[in-house]
Amino acid sequence: MKKHLLFLGAPGAGKGTQAELLSKNNSYLHLSTGELLRKEIELNTNLGKQVKDIINKGELVNDELVLKIVKQNLTKNNNGWILDGYPRNLSQANSLNEVLIAINQPLEIVFYLDIPEEVLIKRLLLRGRKDDTEETIRTRVDIYKKTTEPLIQYFKELSLLEYIDADRDLKTISSDIKRKMAV
Ligand code: ADP
Repeated sequence: MKKHLLFLGAPGAGKGTQAELLSKNNSYLHLSTGELLRKEIELNTNLGKQVKDIINKGELVNDELVLKIVKQNLTKNNNGWILDGYPRNLSQANSLNEVLIAINQPLEIVFYLDIPEEVLIKRLLLRGRKDDTEETIRTRVDIYKKTTEPLIQYFKELSLLEYIDADRDLKTISSDIKRKMAV
C-alpha cells in the first residue's frame, strides 16, 4: 500500500475531491497548498494579505512562500500523505525532492488526473469559488499548460506516473485510484 502520494492535473480535474476522500479513508495527511493559502487569506494573516490579490487573479504564488507552507505542514511523523496542488512547476518539484530527502519519505506514486479542457472549464464555472470567474479560469488553465504540464513528463521519467481518466463519475475514479495505490 502506497503512503506517499501526489495528485497532478489541471484546475478542476478533481484532485482536491479525490485527495480528501483518500486521505480520510486512510488517515493520511492531505496537503493542499491552495486550501492552506485560502485559509491564510480567511484568517487575514500577513501571508494571507501577501497572496490574496495573486490568487484572485489566478496567478501562481511565489515558490519560496509556497515552499515555506509545505515545510510547515509536511511533518515527519505521519501515517502517510497526499500532496495536492504542489508542485506546480519544475523548481517546486526540485524543492519538494529536497524536502522529501530530508524527511526520508520518498514519493511513491503520482496520479495524473486527465480531463478535456472544455469539461474542466464547465466544472470550474459550476463550482463558483471566488477565483472561479471566466477570466481567472483562463489564466489558471494557461499557466497550468505552460508551467505545470511539463511535470507529467518529469514524473513519467521517474517511473512514478499513473494515468487516471478523470472524466468519469467520482466513485469510478476513486476505486481506480484505490486499486492502483494498493499495488
Ligand atoms: P485549482 O486546482 O483549482 O487551481 P488550488 O486550490 O489548487 O485550485 O489553487 C488555488 C490557487 O492557489 C492557485 O490558482 C494559485 O494562485 C495558488 N496556489 C496553490 N498552490 C500553489 C503552488 N504550488 N504554487 C503557487 N501557487 C499556488
